[in-house]
Amino acid sequence: MENQAKKNILRSIPAVDEVLNQPSIQELISVFPRKLVLTIIRDELETIRKKILTQETVFSPDRDTTLKILVDQIAQKAKNSALLHLKKVINATGIIIHTNLGRAPLLNRAVKNIGEIAEGYCNLEYELEKGERGSRYLHVEKILKELSGAESALVVNNNAAAVLVALNTLARGHEVVVSRGELIEIGGSFRLPDIMRQSGCMLKEIGTTNKTKLSDYEQAISQETRLFLTAHTSNYRILGFTEQVLLKDLVRLGRTFNIPVMKDLGSGNFVNLAPYGLEDEPTVMETISSGVDIVTFSGDKLLGGPQAGVIVGEKKYLDEIKKNPLLRAIRVDKFTLAAMEVTLREYFDPEKAVKSIPVLEMLTATQEELKKKAKTLFRQITRKTKDAYELSVEEDFSQAGGGSLPLQALPTWVVTIIPKFFSVAELDKRLRKHHPPIVARINQERLLIDVRTVFAHEMPIISEALARVT
Ligand SMILES: *Cc1c(COP(=O)(O)O)cnc(C)c1O
Repeated sequence: MENQAKKNILRSIPAVDEVLNQPSIQELISVFPRKLVLTIIRDELETIRKKILTQETVFSPDRDTTLKILVDQIAQKAKNSALLHLKKVINATGIIIHTNLGRAPLLNRAVKNIGEIAEGYCNLEYELEKGERGSRYLHVEKILKELSGAESALVVNNNAAAVLVALNTLARGHEVVVSRGELIEIGGSFRLPDIMRQSGCMLKEIGTTNKTKLSDYEQAISQETRLFLTAHTSNYRILGFTEQVLLKDLVRLGRTFNIPVMKDLGSGNFVNLAPYGLEDEPTVMETISSGVDIVTFSGDKLLGGPQAGVIVGEKKYLDEIKKNPLLRAIRVDKFTLAAMEVTLREYFDPEKAVKSIPVLEMLTATQEELKKKAKTLFRQITRKTKDAYELSVEEDFSQAGGGSLPLQALPTWVVTIIPKFFSVAELDKRLRKHHPPIVARINQERLLIDVRTVFAHEMPIISEALARVT
């Protein structure tokens, strides 16, 4: 484009004041802060200017049309900027402990309790009996001890922090023995060797990827050895020609040489899942009763609570950890404790917990329940969307997620959707942009809504959304 022509076009872009004086922008200013609207106007005009200069866009000679489009865009931007960035989404992926979607949804009473505690003041660090300063760690310690059978307990910000502070306390400047088959990486950059380095410990790797023997541990012992660490291979399994040391044998070896044994359980659960036809994940109680000195696990994986890291074990070690200044940097807040206490209490009645804690309820949902739910959703969608989609109800598989039960394929029922007038990728995108956003799964050119992770009250929202996005 000629320079002169470009200049003419640039000159035809409306001025800030002209846009500002448009009646619909004036209306906007009565709802949104003037400063925000002004910033959006300037940004939009600048974008147009840049586009003209890079010749991406040809400015319409019809100024009125241009102005109208511009005003609409500004209004949309102002409205979007009023929406919160962190928002509720509908998880239709069938991945129960979906780390990217916030892991465990909390049980209702836990949510209510967060609200009540958040609304005013609470006895977070105050002993009401004595009228003195107290400890935030006491609120859930007793329940954790009762549930796990451990002598002592402590809750921190997450399991990565729990592992970090335990290693830092018990073995800083010394050696920690770990099997090569357990040098885990958990999604979101938890790598055991890195955590080990950050905690100031020296990693002493033993055995091979597929085989580690008790004699490997024994031969690794030196003056420098302070801890045997064993990590639950949460998100993978080593199968075939393998050998692992039984926890009780490692504990016996540790006792002989006066070396404590720590287990990073990852997804700590308090309910034996085998009766529900699920993989036999070791429970916290089993792990403690095998004699392990320190056990760490997450609050928001199979436990179904808030993000947290739990440390349970022998009092003498926990007392040391409680004195570590690092603890201050990774302490739990009152919201976490409020949700944690309510969630943990459910486990006094494990059968009830399986029904009331959303993660466990989703995990143990029966085929009949899921099929019925999928059929209901199918009917709702059919009614709302007439014939915009090709729909069916089919069997598929969900996942536990969160690095839990990695080999467990959970048979489920899904509603499959093929849009008739646009692509599946486009449907997926539109649903993600919907309010509330709906995150589904694409498989073989079809969109799948896995009803396992969809709450009953969300089903009408999904069918409404599908009608709206056509
Ligand atoms: C998930 C997991 C972690 C990290 O726990 P966060 O609570 O996410 O910090 C550590 N170790 C194992 C074995 C895990 O499965």
